[in-house]
Amino acid sequence: MRSLKLNLVDNARSFIEEALSKAIQAENDPHQWKFAIIHLVQGIELSLKELLRNEHPLFIYKNIDNPKETVSPKEAINRLNRIWSFELSEDENNSLTMAIILRNNIIHHEYEVKPLEVKAAFAKLLGFLVDFHRNHLEDPIDTYIDQNLWHAAIEIEKYGQELFRRAQERLKGKDFASEYILTCPKCGWNALCAPEYLNEGACFVCGHREVLGFCDRCEKLMFEDDVKECGDKTYCWDCFVYLTDDYWHEDGRGKDRGRGQSA
Ligand SMILES: [Zn+2]
Ligand SMILES: [Zn+2]
Repeated sequence: MRSLKLNLVDNARSFIEEALSKAIQAENDPHQWKFAIIHLVQGIELSLKELLRNEHPLFIYKNIDNPKETVSPKEAINRLNRIWSFELSEDENNSLTMAIILRNNIIHHEYEVKPLEVKAAFAKLLGFLVDFHRNHLEDPIDTYIDQNLWHAAIEIEKYGQELFRRAQERLKGKDFASEYILTCPKCGWNALCAPEYLNEGACFVCGHREVLGFCDRCEKLMFEDDVKECGDKTYCWDCFVYLTDDYWHEDGRGKDRGRGQSA
């Protein structure tokens, strides 16, 4: 199985190096960002598989009795979770979700390159990958990446951190409560927010604007796609389930209202 190990690690390294060299070219030719992202996400996927392979070489396959097709990134995380309760932090999870969506958008849809958005996203994913190797795999990335490319990587990561630091400064000035700040779906930084009860939010890192909604019951801030409507009100999933369970259908009033009347 030694050759399999070399293949995975070598493969991950070559994709990460290719991602970095495309990111350097993208400074002059923004279209290269697409290839930089695709290669970086591939590097992330192979790194997840390397962690699975460390447990057992067969674990990288969807079906260990018929080892042909390998697992997707989300399947890899689920399997790691089942093997030894491995969990990503919320921030890491958001980064991985963004990585998968970004790659799918680039490969399957028309994708418009917005350099600020995509460079911030690249920096975020690079940070994820570096931390992932440092925390979960034997060798930190910088021990096997070409040194010139590694210096470029540090610059890009610093660029992302600096954008985020400035965003946090501006957010502090506006006094947003942390529950009104979401992870930006375009750049992956936790800097998308909406002034209270306004429907459009903006990312303080990349400038992306997004339609948002509020839950009328618990006041949670959400993306429009997560909003559940009931009558003329909007709810988060948890409140929607709470308010529309069997009791409500039988009683015809709604729990909150019923409870309020009896109090
Ligand atoms: Zn953003
Ligand atoms: Zn709610």
